[in-house]
Amino acid sequence: MAQRFYSTSSASEFVDLREAVLRSLPPDNGLYMPERLPGPEEVLQPGWRDWSFAELGYRIVSALFAGAVPEDTLREIVGESINFDAPLVTIAEKMHVLELFHGPSLAFKDFGARFMARLMGWLTREDERDLVVLVATSGDTGGAVASAFHGVPGTRVVVLYPSGKVSDLQEKQLTTLGDNITALEVSGTFDDCQRLVKAAFLNRELSEELNLTSANSINIARLIPQAFYYFHAARQLPEGAEPVFVVPSGNFGNLTAGLLARLMGLPVGQFVAATNVNDVVPAYLESGIYEPRSSLPTISNAMDVGAPSNFVRMLEIHQHQHGLMASRITGHRFDDDETRAAIRAVKADTGYVIDPHGAVAYLAAKSWQADHPGDEMIVLETAHPSKFLDVMEEELGKGVVEIPERLACLAAREKEAVELPPEEEVFLDWLGQMSG
Ligand SMILES: *Cc1c(COP(=O)(O)O)cnc(C)c1O
Repeated sequence: MAQRFYSTSSASEFVDLREAVLRSLPPDNGLYMPERLPGPEEVLQPGWRDWSFAELGYRIVSALFAGAVPEDTLREIVGESINFDAPLVTIAEKMHVLELFHGPSLAFKDFGARFMARLMGWLTREDERDLVVLVATSGDTGGAVASAFHGVPGTRVVVLYPSGKVSDLQEKQLTTLGDNITALEVSGTFDDCQRLVKAAFLNRELSEELNLTSANSINIARLIPQAFYYFHAARQLPEGAEPVFVVPSGNFGNLTAGLLARLMGLPVGQFVAATNVNDVVPAYLESGIYEPRSSLPTISNAMDVGAPSNFVRMLEIHQHQHGLMASRITGHRFDDDETRAAIRAVKADTGYVIDPHGAVAYLAAKSWQADHPGDEMIVLETAHPSKFLDVMEEELGKGVVEIPERLACLAAREKEAVELPPEEEVFLDWLGQMSG
């Protein structure tokens, strides 16, 4: 039977793939989870270590969807989503970096966003109206989502970002694509942008009329393709290795994808959750007490999350048992001074240039390795260091960080954005005109 999805808040009602992906959030405020995960014997069929990266991804999601999407379509969707590599780079003895930044927006979010965009395009292929995707961004998510949906037939994207609060290059990633991508420059904060998006969804009439959907990170379609690169990383080590995966974490989608991968047969010794001072999850792992709070700003700002959205999925996977989760995931936190020192130390000791998020994970990997010197460590490098040029130049000086062509060429392109005040009425009016 084709895969079904349940909400973490009501395990007895199921929806199909279309509903889980297009709705994004169940009405009961839980998060969607697949009813059944395929086991290792279904996923890791003979020869899996030699498949292409796209083939590996296709086989995983084919076993997971179990016929919810025709096989040739699925193969095409994965092939178009995973058209860049995730190489494992060895920087020191038993210390490897999994580079997840080779996609168009230079962050690992490209994996999830590209897959989701193409899947949504297919799910709505027979709908008369375009699907309108709303996304509020504080920086990275908007770039990944905009680039992922750019040119996908039957979809239109509206990205809301706070004026003056994203970096120049991040702004260019949102405002230079054109076609089916519209950027709204809101004279307010990220919270204002989120509030506006929420207001649109709460307006039932408008939301139905416009065929609105959301592209935020809790969508199950963004999580699934992130499992692919865990398997891809593991097979780049000698057969039989059980690596320790160290994941720089904010909303914990990346780590949750790793947990799903383990249930599907990923060989893994341990997961290490690395955070900056926004350490709600490491604190929970130590104490058993979960205390979400407001986030604090840091130099690894994509991890500045005080109430991680995927925590309920982590609870669900560990049957709501703190002891079980704490035995499988080890938490570590580091502050900005430690992170800056790590950026310098990695360069000095290994020659590798690591971004602030990867640097937090590197510190956690060193902590683990001090107690377990025999373990193979895999540090997930979630963004290219050029995305955080200010910090990188402060620590390593100018001219050390290479700026990839696809980022550099944005600087010369013309920004196009619609300016809006942070007022619900104005935003809803603007949206209303889209349908007219
Ligand atoms: C989003 C992001 C993270 C955090 O990932 P989660 O899945 O939210 O835990 C880490 N690093 C970078 C560069 C990111 O963009």
